[in-house]
Amino acid sequence: MTHPVVLMPGPMTEHVMAACAARFDVIRLWEHSDQDETLRTRGATVTAIATAGSPPVDAALMDRLPNLRIVSGFGVGYDSIDAVEAARRGIIVTNTPDVLTDDVADVALGLLLMAVRELPQAERYLREGKWRSGPFRLAPATLRGRKLGIFGLGRIGEAIARRAEPFGVEVRYHNRRPKAVPYRYCATLAELADQVDTLVIATPGGPATRHLVDADVLRRLGGRGIVVNVARGSVIDQAALIDALRSGTILSAGLDVFENEPHVPGELLALPNAVLLPHVGSASVDTRRAMGQLVVDNLVSWFERGTALTPVPETPQPEPAHAP
Ligand code: NDP
Repeated sequence: MTHPVVLMPGPMTEHVMAACAARFDVIRLWEHSDQDETLRTRGATVTAIATAGSPPVDAALMDRLPNLRIVSGFGVGYDSIDAVEAARRGIIVTNTPDVLTDDVADVALGLLLMAVRELPQAERYLREGKWRSGPFRLAPATLRGRKLGIFGLGRIGEAIARRAEPFGVEVRYHNRRPKAVPYRYCATLAELADQVDTLVIATPGGPATRHLVDADVLRRLGGRGIVVNVARGSVIDQAALIDALRSGTILSAGLDVFENEPHVPGELLALPNAVLLPHVGSASVDTRRAMGQLVVDNLVSWFERGTALTPVPETPQPEPAHAP
């Protein structure tokens, strides 16, 4: 029996690679010395892509795969997959929502606590043996009395809001559309930044949100301002953020994501008031396994039943007549 041919442009977790290898004929493109030749000779046999985001799945790659039907992405953010172009070509795109929500929200709260109380700096102080010479400096801020603005109150944003409530902070939010939630809605990001001193970003990345958090938004947060980003580095104008942290326009930042990962600019590394994590929002063994399983389950469901489990909004489930 012939198996569907699945293209993997880049490496994925061992679990995904093993599970795909057991069910599909997998082309591990990154291992091919002449990828162009592989795409030329085998491109027409490919009906699915499994991807962890790098390299991107764009129109140029889709051009090489005339029979592509589904792109199964690892991660809830799919800014590395051109879903609009996929929709235009009738290709379904899936992501891995929900299974990572709690882990990412935990990391957002962790970053907020670390940034507001300078916990990583305090830990470094102890490890460097400085405590014996005197106590660590008092943190210039506290969580008490803070107003928390969530930019992107979706699955992860709501999980962050729920976690923030017991800390006694007041939550407001900005999305393009208001939701039925017990938090005050701000129709613009500028309005939200005017009303809060703590901004947590949980929107998607991509062109629509690129650099929406800019120098003006940072200025509106004010000198007590703290920015936490667990979304995508592209949502913040990183140069403006570095300026704002340097000049005291805002107090501090907690970042899990950066503009040009894994490259973090030296200016950011040198700032004492930035807490920096290497994109670990969903990076627990259990969650990464659940994400990987959903990548595989989407492909299996597509090939066995003609429906994907978690299609992205740009490429909704096709009518049964269009399914394989
Ligand atoms: P959702 O789609 O559930 O939520 C996204 C929210 O952002 C929605 O409420 C949406 O509301 C809002 N939004 C989208 N576009 C805009 C815009 N242009 N302006 C204002 N608001 C906007 O996604 P999740 O909560 O599941 O995930 C959010 C993001 O978190 C992912 O896309 C990914 O980039 C990031 N992420 C990061 C991880 C990490 O490791 N750090 C791990 C997982 C996810 P509306 O449509 O009304 O505007």
